[in-house]
Amino acid sequence: TRQIVLASRPSGWPTAENFRLEEVQLPALQPGQVLVRNTAMSVDPYMRGRMNDVKSYVPAFQLDQPLDGGAVGEVIESTADEIPVGTHVLHGLGWREHAVLDADKARPVDVSAVGDTPYLGVLGMPGLTAYAGLMAAAEFTSGDAVFVSGAAGAVGSLVGQIAKLSGASRVIGSAGSPEKVARLLELGFDAAFNYRDGDVVGQLAAAAPEGIDVYFDNVGGEHLEAAIGALNVDGHAALCGAIAQYNSDDKPAAPRNLALVIGKRLTLRGFIVAKYADLAPEFQQKMTGWLTSGQISFDETSREGLDQAPQAFIDMMRGANTGKMVVRL
Ligand code: NDP
Repeated sequence: TRQIVLASRPSGWPTAENFRLEEVQLPALQPGQVLVRNTAMSVDPYMRGRMNDVKSYVPAFQLDQPLDGGAVGEVIESTADEIPVGTHVLHGLGWREHAVLDADKARPVDVSAVGDTPYLGVLGMPGLTAYAGLMAAAEFTSGDAVFVSGAAGAVGSLVGQIAKLSGASRVIGSAGSPEKVARLLELGFDAAFNYRDGDVVGQLAAAAPEGIDVYFDNVGGEHLEAAIGALNVDGHAALCGAIAQYNSDDKPAAPRNLALVIGKRLTLRGFIVAKYADLAPEFQQKMTGWLTSGQISFDETSREGLDQAPQAFIDMMRGANTGKMVVRL
């Protein structure tokens, strides 16, 4: 079987040379384990941080060792009664065609209605990030005007739609192309702009003439600075990601207006989705309902084949995806 290992640590933007495709032998199954043939895997922004040799909330990837991350697949061999052959499961050993893992590390999923890839996006970790980040970290309440950056991505596109369904007075999104901006308006955002056109402060002011009450930050830097400027008194920001700086060795210059947090009595809260696991059942129930009723739409950009996974990851970081980027295996 084949897997992708970290060949070298990227400095700045990752390149194909940082990854290597390897042929390996599968270990024999121990009692209580399953062998999964992976059918799809996720590439996520947080993986970039794990490619650096630094201490963080998730351990760094090791050189010459396989990468890992969210994946879905079908059990083709099992020594665990609770997960028989034929079960579709979600687990954490992506970046490989086959995975051997303890049965309690694999969560059975129902692929009959929606297929497998939604468990990597709208029904999975990014979906919970959007829901918990908006509801718990940002403490959204009905009537709030919400701004979300990275709005056409896996998390951002759901933040905007969930906010709208939950009574937001206005939802504004920013993204990196005219096509993405058009897509956001189709998804029900009240306003959207292309940050690559420049003047994020001015574009945000035009899109939110009465200011914003909640900012969901996927980007950091200039976007965060603009949002601090636009937030109304007692406003809240959930700091979810800072993708504008993941591939840069320099420290970001913005936000330069942090002192506004004091006078405007703003709450800025960083969060990690894993800390909101208690909200997962409530999220699953609501999201399943919204999908069934057609009230939430989700986009997916996919690549075919394990050998395409490194490029899919690099392209996602550069904005090639609308909605969730996945690799079908
Ligand atoms: P996305 O699907 O949003 O993909 C990443 C997107 O980031 C790209 O499509 C690109 O879109 C955008 N982007 C890249 N560079 C820049 C830049 N310099 N400025 C603005 N936008 C940029 O990824 P996810 O939805 O999976 O993740 C979104 C964010 O949420 C990330 O920051 C991620 O780290 C974070 N996250 C945090 C979690 C947590 O627990 N705190 C959990 C999951 C995700 P465009 O074309 O618009 O530039």
